[in-house]
Amino acid sequence: MSHENKMALAIHGGAGTISKKDMTPEKERAYKDGLELAVIEGWKILEEGGTALDAVIRSTVVLEDNPLFNAGKGSVFTNQGTHEMDAALMDGKTLKAGCAAGISTVKNPILLANKIMLHSRHVLLAYGGAEEFAGRMNLEFADSEYFYTEFRYKKLLEAREKGLNKNTPDKAMGTVGAAACDREGNLAAATSTGGMTNKKPGRIGDTPIIGAGTYANNNTCAVSCTGDGEYIIRAVLAYDVSCLMEYKGLTLTEACKTALKKFGDMGGDGGLIAVDKFGNIEMPFNSAGMYRSSICTGEKIKSEIF
Ligand code: ASP
Repeated sequence: MSHENKMALAIHGGAGTISKKDMTPEKERAYKDGLELAVIEGWKILEEGGTALDAVIRSTVVLEDNPLFNAGKGSVFTNQGTHEMDAALMDGKTLKAGCAAGISTVKNPILLANKIMLHSRHVLLAYGGAEEFAGRMNLEFADSEYFYTEFRYKKLLEAREKGLNKNTPDKAMGTVGAAACDREGNLAAATSTGGMTNKKPGRIGDTPIIGAGTYANNNTCAVSCTGDGEYIIRAVLAYDVSCLMEYKGLTLTEACKTALKKFGDMGGDGGLIAVDKFGNIEMPFNSAGMYRSSICTGEKIKSEIF
């Protein structure tokens, strides 16, 4: 009988949580239901013998379609009242990656990232060129009405008025992501986001930058980050976790702790999810909370916010 690897799937719905005092049992249930649906859908793929790559794509699509999370439907607004979404996908087996930035018309940016990985000569496409490519790949488009949510629009108005920023308790952030280890021990990571409320049009965050918000390597780990994008980029956070494992021989737990501390010491606020080839899962954060959920072989789904 062939040796089957312990499988694992971790997802996050962003570190930009509503503060504990504003959380009601109903809201908490709605967020956890959304997370759990995404985990269940991705897990089904792993259980049926599918790849880590397909599992992270599936979980991310489910989160993109849920307006509670800042990605796809439910994305935050730029200061011009528009949407500019970023997404990335990396396959730990081949080290191939696909990334899309500044997307405003594609319903599921993570599917575009996948097409870019599979069918273009490039790793990262942005704005009009990325959308033109999405058309050629026959991806589904959506108009600004689809991406509009009242809750996010109110946040933009508040932000314009009060200057919502990283120091306000109700963060202007959020993102979704997934990291998985399949039966064969292959790893993959996916991240998708609307970015930060009130961002300048043209601002690209950490999400579609390989090594910053997203990274996967079968020899080390798969990582998806959330939080202050500008800090995550400069900390090269996802790759830092992988590097600590690759060059220093740290365990997943130690590597996550060390990388997150460095990011925090720089002033960054946020968190990450990470999975290694043994099916271990880590989900550390230094923010007030992080929507997160995970499952692995032999264990039940766990979902937490704070
Ligand atoms: N990292 C995302 C960005 O900066 C936002 C977030 O995760 O909250 O675009």
